[in-house]
Amino acid sequence: MTGRRESAAYVVPESLRGSPGTPKDRREEAFFNRVDPDPEWLTNSQPGKAMERLEMAYTAERPEIKRVWGARIAEQAQQLKAAEQAEPVAAKSVGDITVAIKEEALRLGFDAVGIARFHRTYVYSNYRGLVRFKNLIVLALERATEDFESQILSIDYMHMTQQLMHEGTEMMLELIAFLGARGYRGQVVAGPIGINMVKVLPYAEEAGLGQMGLNGQLLSPYFGSRWHPFALSTDAHVTPDGPRDFGIPTLCDSCQVCVRRCPGRAIPNLRVHWRGAVKNKLDVEKCVPMLMRYATCNICTKVCPVQKYGLAAVAEHFEATGGEVLGKGTEELEGYTLPDRGYQGVGALPRFDKDEARIRYDLLDQLPPDIGPWVHQIDERKEPS
Ligand code: SF4
Ligand code: SF4
Repeated sequence: MTGRRESAAYVVPESLRGSPGTPKDRREEAFFNRVDPDPEWLTNSQPGKAMERLEMAYTAERPEIKRVWGARIAEQAQQLKAAEQAEPVAAKSVGDITVAIKEEALRLGFDAVGIARFHRTYVYSNYRGLVRFKNLIVLALERATEDFESQILSIDYMHMTQQLMHEGTEMMLELIAFLGARGYRGQVVAGPIGINMVKVLPYAEEAGLGQMGLNGQLLSPYFGSRWHPFALSTDAHVTPDGPRDFGIPTLCDSCQVCVRRCPGRAIPNLRVHWRGAVKNKLDVEKCVPMLMRYATCNICTKVCPVQKYGLAAVAEHFEATGGEVLGKGTEELEGYTLPDRGYQGVGALPRFDKDEARIRYDLLDQLPPDIGPWVHQIDERKEPS
């Protein structure tokens, strides 16, 4: 990984040291990928598809986002297609251009960048065979702290997400042009709305951008899960970074704040072997109702000490106190206010009745036929191959 904040060097203290990345068995991952392929979640899973349609029908936020951003997203999708189909404008550069790509990504405005080797395991089954090149450039765009704290749980947060995706896509268009000027190609495989060909978080972990947290997100040492991932596949001559140990799994075991503070009770406090990797598997059926109710929720990002204070401060405190987690048990870190349930202080969780806490699949039959997802049709690569 190369990032803007690497000058604030973080050294994993002895008390947090573990293994790089996530424990995984490549052969087992490949086995599950073969016998039980994983399609893209929003477009193909039962809860994902239900969420998209129910949000369009029963929330004010999603139609408003479509009204404001729909045309811009469609326009960018066309620009991406043209950029990806364009021939490189120069002969191939000689030698490894990893450093040049990373410097350019940071110059363009990304906050961190790493390289991962492509392998089929993390391609969604409906895009099999469509990722063109063997290396991925994985990029992070941080959400500003002040915007995050003030906008979370509101439609402003959803607008900010679109803005972030829009800006990141503009930068990826420039990065494709940068590659083209050196004789190489780039293909956007994750990041912009409507383009989600690969499981980007495992790739981000393999590019050394962070480690998976108990909240199911990749925690950057600098901004926790308060960031948006992007990925480009490329034929450029580059060197993969590889996964790193940031001490996050050990920290999470002692922390568990997201587990306790999740309003949907969707984060279990145990890791399981899941499709070849050891991970914390969120309960999607419990999370989705909160995503819909609270403008993508994100309480699990808000209450994470790594997001709030940065890993260097959290690790220093952990080491100095013999294992205390910075901010744990404080209102500053753990408190939040839900629009319809009021303030939830340390130890308090909102209550929901049965219908509020589940995905209302029963309502799908009542929707008019023209209520459908709003982004899937934008990118024709969404069609199953
Ligand atoms: S988004 Fe909300 S409901 Fe879902 S896991 Fe995070 S805190 Fe829980
Ligand atoms: S809140 Fe704590 S347990 Fe959850 S992801 Fe952050 S550090 Fe890990």
